[in-house]
Amino acid sequence: MSEQESLYDVIIIGGGPAGLSAAQYTSRSKLKTVVLDKSAAAGALAYASIIENYPGLTSPMSGKELLDVFKQQALSFGAEYIESQIIGVKLDSDIKEVFTIDSSYKGKAVIIATGSMGRKPTIEGEAGFLGRGVSYCAVCDAAFFKDKTVCVIGNSEEAVKEAGFLTKFAETVYLISPTPKLKVDDHPALHEKNLEVILESFVKSIEGTDTVEKIRIVDSSKKESEIPLSGVFVYMHGSKPIVDFLYGSVELTEEECIQANRMMETATPGVFAAGDVICTEIRQVVTAASNGCVAALSAEKYIHHRKRHKHDWGK
Ligand SMILES: Cc1cc2nc3c(=O)[nH]c(=O)nc-3n(C[C@H](O)[C@H](O)[C@H](O)COP(=O)(O)OP(=O)(O)OC[C@H]3O[C@@H](n4cnc5c(N)ncnc54)[C@H](O)[C@@H]3O)c2cc1C
Repeated sequence: MSEQESLYDVIIIGGGPAGLSAAQYTSRSKLKTVVLDKSAAAGALAYASIIENYPGLTSPMSGKELLDVFKQQALSFGAEYIESQIIGVKLDSDIKEVFTIDSSYKGKAVIIATGSMGRKPTIEGEAGFLGRGVSYCAVCDAAFFKDKTVCVIGNSEEAVKEAGFLTKFAETVYLISPTPKLKVDDHPALHEKNLEVILESFVKSIEGTDTVEKIRIVDSSKKESEIPLSGVFVYMHGSKPIVDFLYGSVELTEEECIQANRMMETATPGVFAAGDVICTEIRQVVTAASNGCVAALSAEKYIHHRKRHKHDWGK
């Protein structure tokens, strides 16, 4: 593929309502668009069991169903959707580049729409052993734990899926859920012979010397036990904007959210942000979608060097 063929007009990081709304607008305006999404099961909308306040819905539907409508609509206008986690970016030149574990994508504009399901380290030892046994990215780090014992902490579909991925490398994978049930009843990963599910338990501490050597867990009867292992993959969610992959390329506030202006422009030319990842007090599907639309219109203006936004892309 030539350099020009592989160059996107717009790269959208995150496939929630903000990213997919942006994709709908950019692809409908004939901009070559790709949405790079870590997982359709990992964003806030995917977690919402019922949505009934998104305008236009004639009956309530699950967050996953609504997300799929967003996705199909963006795809119908020509947007590409690739399931992939972004782990780094280079945004300071006219052609921007974003990186996954095994590939990179180039584009003229980037829209960041990674939501706010991140969390601060809360488990004792989690922050201290980050990169020395603690990881938030199985795809990135699984190979370091070949034939070793690891655990995944979490109960979401994403946690189950990542635990399944780790079974291909590690000798034993413990999936430790704080709840009595996982969020998915059945999943191919749960049938892997080297995966063991531990329910209703929380990890009290991650311990070791130079690297992780064991975890201490507490079960529902408050009984403590230790599991010797080398790797801890944390897949618990919170409400912190997901900006870890930016490594300072985009200015953040003290609260570690992206400060975008009302046109969804960041301080970096050609880089826009939308949805829960920006500094905002209102985190709703309708505001995320609205931000995505504005970010797309701003990206189109930037790419075509227009003085004004183009409002009507209808036929
Ligand atoms: C339980 C729950 C119930 C809710 N109920 C409602 C409701 O009833 N009504 C309402 O309006 N709002 C509701 N919300 C809020 C609403 O879901 C969010 O405001 C909205 O989904 C934000 O959209 P977003 O696109 O910014 O982020 P998200 O929906 O979080 O999507 C972000 C996307 O980015 C992807 N991503 C993250 N990191 C990376 C990376 N490094 N590389 C690639 N992709 C990445 C994720 O996989 C995800 O697909 C609810 C939220 C939750 C958690």
